[in-house]
Amino acid sequence: MCVDAVQLLTSAAVECQKAGLRQSSMQCCFTLMKPDYRKQIADKFNSKIETMVRKSGKAKLEDAPDDMSPCPYCQAMVPDYTLVCSECKSEIPFCIVSVSIKNCVFAVVQKLLQFHDSKSF
Ligand SMILES: [Zn+2]
Repeated sequence: MCVDAVQLLTSAAVECQKAGLRQSSMQCCFTLMKPDYRKQIADKFNSKIETMVRKSGKAKLEDAPDDMSPCPYCQAMVPDYTLVCSECKSEIPFCIVSVSIKNCVFAVVQKLLQFHDSKSF
């Protein structure tokens, strides 16, 4: 069995948990609990993943919803990390730093430069 798959699933389970993506995290954990993978989980994660699976029976497993922002073309509300607007089907430009519609570093810099230009002669 592929050790890389176990490492990737373990990392994905931990990172998804941190990001509030509980459903995605648990899917990784359930896969890791399969006998072939289970014996290859690093010791420090083994008990943590077992505990997460055991507690998952009571917990409501849902990924945290994406934040929404208006489409720059039609103003329909779309998830921040979507690449195509579901309403007008336009490709949505996203920030290459945050990979999001909002929180764009370049948009902030552009605004500052515009402000600076408007004040200078
Ligand atoms: Zn749109």
